Amino acid sequence: MTACGDNQFDAVVIGGGFYGAVIASSLKTRFGMKRVLLIEQEHSLMTRASLRNQARVHNGYHYPRSYKTAYRSRINLPKFAQDWPAAVSSKFTKLYAIASKNSKVTPKQFIRFCKEIGAPVELANPFHRSLFDSRLIESVFQVEEYAFDAQILSKLAHKELCEHQIDMRFATKALGIYPLDSGLNRVTLKRQDGEESSVEGRLVFNCTYTGLDRVRGEFSGLKTTLKHEVTEMALLELPDELNKVAVTVMDGPFFSLMPYPSRNLFTLSHVRYTPHFSWLEEASIDPYKRLDEYEKGSRAHRMLLDTARYMPLISDARHVDSIFEVKTVLAKNETDDGRPILFEEYPDYPGLFSVLGGKIDNIYDILERMEACIKPAV
Ligand SMILES: Cc1cc2nc3c(=O)[nH]c(=O)nc-3n(C[C@H](O)[C@H](O)[C@H](O)COP(=O)(O)OP(=O)(O)OC[C@H]3O[C@@H](n4cnc5c(N)ncnc54)[C@H](O)[C@@H]3O)c2cc1C
Repeated sequence: MTACGDNQFDAVVIGGGFYGAVIASSLKTRFGMKRVLLIEQEHSLMTRASLRNQARVHNGYHYPRSYKTAYRSRINLPKFAQDWPAAVSSKFTKLYAIASKNSKVTPKQFIRFCKEIGAPVELANPFHRSLFDSRLIESVFQVEEYAFDAQILSKLAHKELCEHQIDMRFATKALGIYPLDSGLNRVTLKRQDGEESSVEGRLVFNCTYTGLDRVRGEFSGLKTTLKHEVTEMALLELPDELNKVAVTVMDGPFFSLMPYPSRNLFTLSHVRYTPHFSWLEEASIDPYKRLDEYEKGSRAHRMLLDTARYMPLISDARHVDSIFEVKTVLAKNETDDGRPILFEEYPDYPGLFSVLGGKIDNIYDILERMEACIKPAV
């Protein structure tokens, strides 16, 4: 069935982040949908979590406590690099260092884990080892991991949407979802200028990440509990000796330093200081509003002070700016730090799907789930 009527679509995708953009394009290219609409509350594509993140294309190393997440990263990184080559940067050396104290993983365990997931790992060379204080860092490994440029990714995703003639409505918020007797789902909308309207879709994909459990109407909400965290990453200019490396210290209250190609700077995140506060999903709290209203006192100084104990040269870094964003994860992954996908369907709302990918490369796990449950249009 192909939807007809001006406000009827084969599929309506809510949320113009990386997930919504890729899903909208794939509904045309893989599933043969004729009319697809993408709704985004901001003025352009990918301005929220898909832009304001640590830009790491994960290759598994970060997840020694969640084998499945690590293994899926190994499968998905090559696909991401192949599909978005212009957005992928590998012009740096990626180091994973194991702290001598308070690490949940030892160097031996880390090597064994890398072998188990088939990820390349070798001891870092003397120059790279010399960047760390050997009293606090037991071992340093060189590995293979990339960064992505979110601005380029956004431009490429936007180009694809245009090429596939996806209808896009920006500055438009989805308010609620209502199942209709016709088998379609109605999505009510409000534009920033106040105008209200609605559209109908045979399929509706909610890809709103932080806003995922807030598009309700008659829909009673997710089956899964979300956890929101207001996060800060420091944006740094690094001294010459450091500006070709990326570093993650494992596995505990440590830090990650990654290139942030879209601003030609580096991000520093710290397990202790990056999360400012967190809460479990609650109807009375709008996470975007909570972030807007938060006074955003920076903790970059504290991040830098602690990082300098392990990597003294970071003291010469310049704090240029900080990125604040809400990070949304599944509450159940609190302890293992895993990043599985959320892909929910609902017997009472046929055609409605809620989607959340814990990291950028998980999009391929979502596309696999879609292949398994969506019949291509004829
Ligand atoms: C601090 C931080 C660091 C991270 N680091 C990494 C990393 O290094 N590597 C990695 O792979 N992943 C990382 N992630 C996770 C990654 O950013 C997300 O998995 C990914 O961006 C999610 O994409 P998305 O499209 O679902 O979300 P988003 O990009 O947030 O898109 C959702 C969109 O929905 C819109 N929206 C919300 N509500 C509504 C509504 N009611 N109506 C219309 N539009 C709406 C929003 O405006 C937004 O544009 C990080 C995330 C954060 C926050």
